Amino acid sequence: MDIIDERKIFLQELVHPRFRVNNISVSVLRLDLIHPVISGNKWFKLKENIRAGMDGSFGQLLTFGGAYSNHLIATAAAANQAGLKSVGIVRGLHGAVHETETLKHCREYGMQLHFISREDYDRKNDPQFLNRLEEQFGKSFIISEGGANEYGIRGAAEIAKFIPVDTTDVCVSAGTATTFIGLRNTLPVHTFLHGFAPLKGGNYLADFIRAHVIAPDTNWTLTDEYHFGGFGKTTAELLAFIEEMMEHDLPLDKVYTAKMMMGIRDLISKNYFKPGSRITAIHTGGLQGN
Ligand SMILES: *Cc1c(COP(=O)(O)O)cnc(C)c1O
Repeated sequence: MDIIDERKIFLQELVHPRFRVNNISVSVLRLDLIHPVISGNKWFKLKENIRAGMDGSFGQLLTFGGAYSNHLIATAAAANQAGLKSVGIVRGLHGAVHETETLKHCREYGMQLHFISREDYDRKNDPQFLNRLEEQFGKSFIISEGGANEYGIRGAAEIAKFIPVDTTDVCVSAGTATTFIGLRNTLPVHTFLHGFAPLKGGNYLADFIRAHVIAPDTNWTLTDEYHFGGFGKTTAELLAFIEEMMEHDLPLDKVYTAKMMMGIRDLISKNYFKPGSRITAIHTGGLQGN
């Protein structure tokens, strides 16, 4: 599928002094550059889903997300380019009244939006509920929220091929942890994987990870210490950090990647990483949300 030109991906070495102590180097894998909205890890989680949707001649994708969802807009744009119809089931009824920029763009890409209450949204994996949606919207290839399914894991695994072999530590933000799992199942065993949850209590993800990783569970860790008040919340410190990194030619989104990068900087200052570590941080995109 040539919806996306993956050759735009490159590795950016950070020259920022606070990321270069104890002979440590931090490089950022710029997955955000492949497309303005089919951005970062979302493309990788979608590609196998779209292929399956096309192979099964479903003609239509149906997926789930909130009013600011990077996944929803990426699905809308990718479906549009692949010649598939798309339906977006949106969490919460308020979005129908106050349309966000994200939702507006989803519609412009041809996505049909359907707003449901948070209670109904909680049934997003319930087969009976999914049947009802298909009765309403027609036969669809259904993609779990956030692309968190086997196809998503398989597609995300491809990100590993862009990571240099001498990398000692890989850092990635984990929302559903689908990208994290794809990476863990593909990276060499000696490469340690650090996940950064952008939400309070993000450690619940550890169960989902344990259920899906095939590698021994000694070479990864997950922290939820860098949530900065919770999912989608920001602090003045976080916003100042985004400004500062802009000056180092690194645009970051406030929901995921800025929190991870601040986490990395903090962990470096606490001597968490061994001297000489070669860290690759994954820029998972999300800039449309800013
Ligand atoms: C969706 C998203 C994530 C989380 O990815 P998961 O595979 O769900 O863990 C991380 N960063 C950005 C920018 C995202 O949009």
